Amino acid sequence: MMSALSLSVIAERLGAPYEGAPLAVSGITIDSRAVTPGDLFVALPGERVDGHNYIDAAVANGAIAALVEHPVDADVPCLRVSSCLAALSDIGRASRDFSRSLVIAITGSCGKTTVKNLCRSIFTQAGPTVATAGNYNNEIGVPLTLARLDDETRFAIVEMGATRRGDIAHLCALARPSITTVLNAMEAHLEGFGSVADVADIKAEIFDGLGAQGTAILNLDQPWVSLWRERIARAGADTVSYSLGEEGDITVADLRDLGLQGSEFTLRVHGEEQAVRFPLPGRHSVANALAAAALATAAGLDLGTIVTGLEQAEAESGRLRAESLGEDKTLIDDSYNANPGSVRAAIDLLAATAGNSLLILGEMLELGEESAERHREMGARAREQGVTRFVGIGDALKPAVETFGSTGQWYPTRDALTAALPELLEQSDTLLVKGSRGAAMESVLVAIRDTA
Ligand code: ATP
Ligand code: MG
Repeated sequence: MMSALSLSVIAERLGAPYEGAPLAVSGITIDSRAVTPGDLFVALPGERVDGHNYIDAAVANGAIAALVEHPVDADVPCLRVSSCLAALSDIGRASRDFSRSLVIAITGSCGKTTVKNLCRSIFTQAGPTVATAGNYNNEIGVPLTLARLDDETRFAIVEMGATRRGDIAHLCALARPSITTVLNAMEAHLEGFGSVADVADIKAEIFDGLGAQGTAILNLDQPWVSLWRERIARAGADTVSYSLGEEGDITVADLRDLGLQGSEFTLRVHGEEQAVRFPLPGRHSVANALAAAALATAAGLDLGTIVTGLEQAEAESGRLRAESLGEDKTLIDDSYNANPGSVRAAIDLLAATAGNSLLILGEMLELGEESAERHREMGARAREQGVTRFVGIGDALKPAVETFGSTGQWYPTRDALTAALPELLEQSDTLLVKGSRGAAMESVLVAIRDTA
């Protein structure tokens, strides 16, 4: 990890005075609890906690130096900078500059973490791979990912999130990816973006810096194809396209939906084909598999490696992960997050299960003016697709429960739902729980498991 960067190199790069002995830095950490011996601890002044208060804790865990914005008493050398955040970016950029790895960047409204995980599963077979940890996809997370690149790393899979124009351009300036994709553009973070068309436009920043050596992965099933083609052409990059339909460099045939067990299909890559037994459920997951296959193809990986990687994929917790509840019921945990795109995918999957289905939905946050309309649309979709029962939690869900109709139930809070759970469980064979991160629907899962 970071074998090319010593503390003196980092200090020089940051313009921070350091005259101590040469020290090798094994990694960069912002969380004192996650420090491992040899790390440089970055004392980020966060919204809730200030890293400067945790330097001793970091040193106790083995930090050999700290990056600080103001003088502190510490038992290790401290590099002083005017902004720890800017310094973190500089370190990420430096690490990337030293690295010869192939950098792949993924953005989109839904599925970034999933596709990143699929890529990790595929690329690790071909060589040492660094992939974004968890959901570390912002101006802090991307430099932390880049700081993990070393001499050995062949592939870097970098998830990039955006909440406003310029975010992706900034992250690309640090990571300098040569293969990039926008998975999709949906109604996420609309408060920062404006319309979905703005989302498509802003995410396309990921294509702008590609250049003639770069490859853009294009999802032909999105309504923004012509916009994205134009941006890719302007960048002078190559394109590898994919689609759930007939067109494209990478497609599927003989798709058989196995419900919660995933699906089976024939994967076609530039005319070559191989059968896949893919464990992640839902049609949208097949689109994610194609995106990962396209990224890997652009990186020169062969079809056999891609198929093995896809078959070994595992669902991450909180993302449509099914578990059994008692003897004959299934609970689907999709509590990690929610926006209209991912709620539609969840509804479609739930509605296709056998027996009585129950959707328990918490608020979809950050929808701005569209909030009421989008929540209403989810209620209508659940009804049209044939979801048996619908429970909405929180004020924002009132319009959704209303459009769902007479078997809809509304509760003001998660706690208010608890008393009704025994009866709801009695009536349902498959339950799906979902909501935005801020809606903290994982506590409903706990209550359901306790009740069952
Ligand atoms: P975040 O913006 O929080 O980082 P993400 O883009 O990384 O999200 P995931 O964590 O992979 O996305 O998935 C989030 C949710 O979106 C899950 O509920 C998942 O089932 C759903 N989802 C994943 N891929 C798609 C897709 N292609 N279309 C619609 N929904 C999807
Ligand atoms: Mg993510």
